[in-house]
Amino acid sequence: MSLYSGFHKKTRQERIHILTTTKTLTPDSIETLTIDRNLPEDIAGQIAENHIGTFALPMSVVPEIVVNGRTYTLPLVTEEPSVVAALNYASQIIGKSGGFTTNSHERLMIGQVALYDLPDLEKAKVAIRQHQTEILDLANASHPSILKRGGGARAIRLDTKEDFLIVYLLADVKEAMGANMINNMLEGIKPYLVELSNGQALMAILSNYATESLVTATCRIAFDQIPGGQETARKMALASRLAQIDPYRAATHNKGIFNGIDALVLATGNDWRAIEAGCHAYACQDGQYRGLSNWTIEDTELVGNLTVPMPIATVGGSIGLNPKVKLAFDLLQHPDAKTLAGLIAAVGLAQNFAALRALVTTGIQAGHMKLQAKSLALLAGAKGTEVEAIAQKLRDSQHTNLEQAKTLLEELRASYSD
Ligand code: NDP
Repeated sequence: MSLYSGFHKKTRQERIHILTTTKTLTPDSIETLTIDRNLPEDIAGQIAENHIGTFALPMSVVPEIVVNGRTYTLPLVTEEPSVVAALNYASQIIGKSGGFTTNSHERLMIGQVALYDLPDLEKAKVAIRQHQTEILDLANASHPSILKRGGGARAIRLDTKEDFLIVYLLADVKEAMGANMINNMLEGIKPYLVELSNGQALMAILSNYATESLVTATCRIAFDQIPGGQETARKMALASRLAQIDPYRAATHNKGIFNGIDALVLATGNDWRAIEAGCHAYACQDGQYRGLSNWTIEDTELVGNLTVPMPIATVGGSIGLNPKVKLAFDLLQHPDAKTLAGLIAAVGLAQNFAALRALVTTGIQAGHMKLQAKSLALLAGAKGTEVEAIAQKLRDSQHTNLEQAKTLLEELRASYSD
């Protein structure tokens, strides 16, 4: 029997105890967990302007998810009830069919310099192409430390959009997200591009549309491993098709995927706005916003597939500053950026599996409201043991809403004085 069986029924202290015995956590991480250590105020005040405090969210784990044949414990940060439970559920089902396989296609970041007021667009293009080597050398001279790490500027691409000539710079930023590195490189090449093109530079900035950092997660689940079997699998494939053709459904389909992706991106201290922006642009790559995942039927299996841009980092930004982020990397056993990108894609696909299965069977509200009941009880003012008591009453009642929670709490408290 797995050490993690019944994990969700244990107390927080019991869960921490299991993690400290099964994972190779540093003494520092164990202390972070036990005393619930957070971002210190003096560091928070250095990271963001006009700082007045720190802001906490629940940190959870999915203890076992199988990715590329290895079992991981995933740290997740989310305030939404049912996200972690759904991921846990999907990970168990998909794990029995071999888990997820991931593939990081490439890992280059892209930046752009937009040139305008060009006296001769074609001449400018020729001049820039002829001096590609010098431009790459200049880019590398603007952030030389990345060369020692085996990274650096790799290529230049040109495109014209209306009267703009856009110069794209592709660089290997190794374990970082690379925003500042790329921006340094772009600032370094900007004056030379202006000189070569005889034009003006409007701006120089990283692009979050990271099409050279794609990652794919796939899974194959035998019908007999899916509750509801072949019929549910077929409906899930239909639901996936619906998200390809209807943007109203696609947006919600992808929101479900981000329930998983964002929770792991946040736990690892990464820039979730950057990841969201890139993935939503990718969802719209052919001009229509579509679901990011695809589920199809192949023989007796449901096959899931998710490809997303994932320029995730294991260093840089504020990653090294938050003790909870250090703990997250400890739990993940310190993956490199490519491995972490794969884990994030797998989490997105797992979350999508759980959401689609619920949607085409019991409907999303049944499970969601069951878990939402605790939040409603808390919002109504329930304390201590009242929370579970009110949540249970809410689950049994016809209406699961705040008004009902308040009524039930009043009734419960009145019963104390009876
Ligand atoms: P940093 O500026 O923190 O750069 C990464 C740092 O990690 C560098 O100091 C680098 O050292 C160090 N490093 C250590 N080991 C490695 C390694 N193996 N590989 C690569 N670097 C290593 O972060 P980024 O340039 O990655 O930029 C990310 C930050 O930029 C985020 O905070 C993001 O929010 C922000 N940002 C995002 C933008 C966007 O998304 N559009 C725009 C602007 C900023 P060394 O310098 O010695 O190489």
